[in-house]
Amino acid sequence: MKKLILASNNKKKIKEMKEILKEIDIEVRSLEDERINIDVVEDGKTFEENAKKKAKEIYEYLVERKDSNFIVLADDSGLEVNYLNGEPGIYSARYAGEHGNDSKNNEKLLNKLKGVLKSNRGAKFICQLAMFTDKGEYFKVTGEVEGYIIEELHGDGGFGYDPLFFYEPLDKTFAELTSEEKNEISHRGKALKELKKVINKLIY
Ligand code: IMP
Repeated sequence: MKKLILASNNKKKIKEMKEILKEIDIEVRSLEDERINIDVVEDGKTFEENAKKKAKEIYEYLVERKDSNFIVLADDSGLEVNYLNGEPGIYSARYAGEHGNDSKNNEKLLNKLKGVLKSNRGAKFICQLAMFTDKGEYFKVTGEVEGYIIEELHGDGGFGYDPLFFYEPLDKTFAELTSEEKNEISHRGKALKELKKVINKLIY
């Protein structure tokens, strides 16, 4: 049976991806599950460059390790705020300087938007997926979702900017949604839904 290896060290992202991928007939493994201790440097200029780099480095490592029957999947994602000309964008994880410090990142975003009217607080989450098969075939998919940035944190689910990202159709922030609700409409949920079609073709 093929295994799908998630090229990420972000535990919350991995949990979310495993949940979304659970109904496909493939074993989903993290880098930790595979005892792969590689932290890919994200120095690309776009989400796609970064996602592809993450997937490719892990793919090359597995080829070197002589693994077979695998697919490597990487997610590079982030938040783009219109008023900030697309910031934090590819720097979303390290917006306030320290990689993955969600509360500092949220605080910086709120400071940058202090006094900005609701009508100018539009934002979108972007998820770029990049996938390499063991034969070196490359696939990519993008998912997006629109919302706006509220003025204080609401909810304690999800991760990253979720407590500030207000999704009008459900009248809640992403952090107030159940994981099923978030996965149904999120940038990551949409992108993975598309990619699942490709994965299903590859495994049958
Ligand atoms: P990456 O690991 O370099 O792709 O960084 C992604 C960063 O974008 C995360 O650390 C979060 O700050 C942000 N982000 C991506 N997806 C989400 C999401 O679903 N909710 C909230 N923040 C997200």
